[in-house]
Amino acid sequence: MRAARYFGPRDFRLVEVERPVPARGEVLLRVRAAGLCHSDLHIIFDELGGFPIPAPLTLGHEICGEAVELGEDVTGIEIGRRYAVFGPVGCGNCAYCRAGRDNLCTGSRWMGIARDGGYADYVAVPAQALVPVPDAVPDAVAAVATDAVLTSYHALLTVGRLQPGEGVAILGVGGLGLNAVQIASALGAVVLAVDIDERKLELARRHGAAVALDSRQLDPQQPPLDRPITLVADFVGNDQTKLLAQQLVARGGRVVLVGLASVGGPLLALRDISEEIAVLGSFWGTRAELATVLDVIARGLVRPRVETHPLEEILTWVERLRAGEVESRVALVP
Ligand code: NAD
Ligand code: ZN
Ligand code: ZN
Repeated sequence: MRAARYFGPRDFRLVEVERPVPARGEVLLRVRAAGLCHSDLHIIFDELGGFPIPAPLTLGHEICGEAVELGEDVTGIEIGRRYAVFGPVGCGNCAYCRAGRDNLCTGSRWMGIARDGGYADYVAVPAQALVPVPDAVPDAVAAVATDAVLTSYHALLTVGRLQPGEGVAILGVGGLGLNAVQIASALGAVVLAVDIDERKLELARRHGAAVALDSRQLDPQQPPLDRPITLVADFVGNDQTKLLAQQLVARGGRVVLVGLASVGGPLLALRDISEEIAVLGSFWGTRAELATVLDVIARGLVRPRVETHPLEEILTWVERLRAGEVESRVALVP
């Protein structure tokens, strides 16, 4: 079968490999769509500060597939049915999994980051990572729900504790951030969208942002909403946006860090301390939240934008995403 594999920094290629055989407790999926995330670029271009990525590795951590073969001891999974893959997997036994925080599992290997992922014709997945896809949700939408929507949902609602009527700033309205704009406005928050690309800002306006501004035109001393910005979610994570997030947030507010564009970054300690700004990290989401996100999408409350392209074009789309030429999200279809 075909698989797009990471062989080391800047060495990512589509190659032929053996079709995987599902081990005990695993299910073989025929991949129906796999979303392209900016995190794939951080892996390929070695931008994660030495974070260990095994090689060779099939990338692709936003997966929707159809169950075609069951390993030993798998129950409750139907052959022919479509499933979304919960990327952090979760062992089910560690203290985090038992507390429902399976995104922080200490015993699992993340799909497409620590074990082979979905840029392939087939992928073997631990059965506990599979979440059924509602009929109303197309393949590519289910794929991007597993990260671009799930991560945004977790960051705003679980980590950020967003409330209806709050002023919220979303920094970076690309693949993740545009879903964050939709989720926040569906909840009744008042959204400021910030990006450096006018096309992304226009999309954010069309998806519920009250105000959308280029970060270079934004004066953090004069926040452009009719209420304090008590939550800022940074979906870029470079030094500039981390600084902007801490400047923009109102006293007593929360800054949620999601983007991984730089591994360190400035901390405005005096402001954060004297005005009680909470700076919080947010990682992916939980399996229970993924089921909720798929239901919310099925009911039309959030409409993730995704364009599909053939798996053979993956290298082109990696370059286009890197050049800022992807409108919102791309999913590859084998
Ligand atoms: P993307 O490339 O689709 O979107 C990034 C957006 O940021 C683009 O619209 C771009 O124009 C904008 N941008 C770039 N520089 C900016 C700046 N200085 N000011 C304002 N906007 C700017 O990326 P994505 O797939 O949405 O991922 C976003 C980030 O989130 C990446 O770093 C990715 O690795 C990370 N990520 C984190 C998690 C997590 O669990 N924490 C999960 C998925 C992705
Ligand atoms: Zn991702
Ligand atoms: Zn666990």
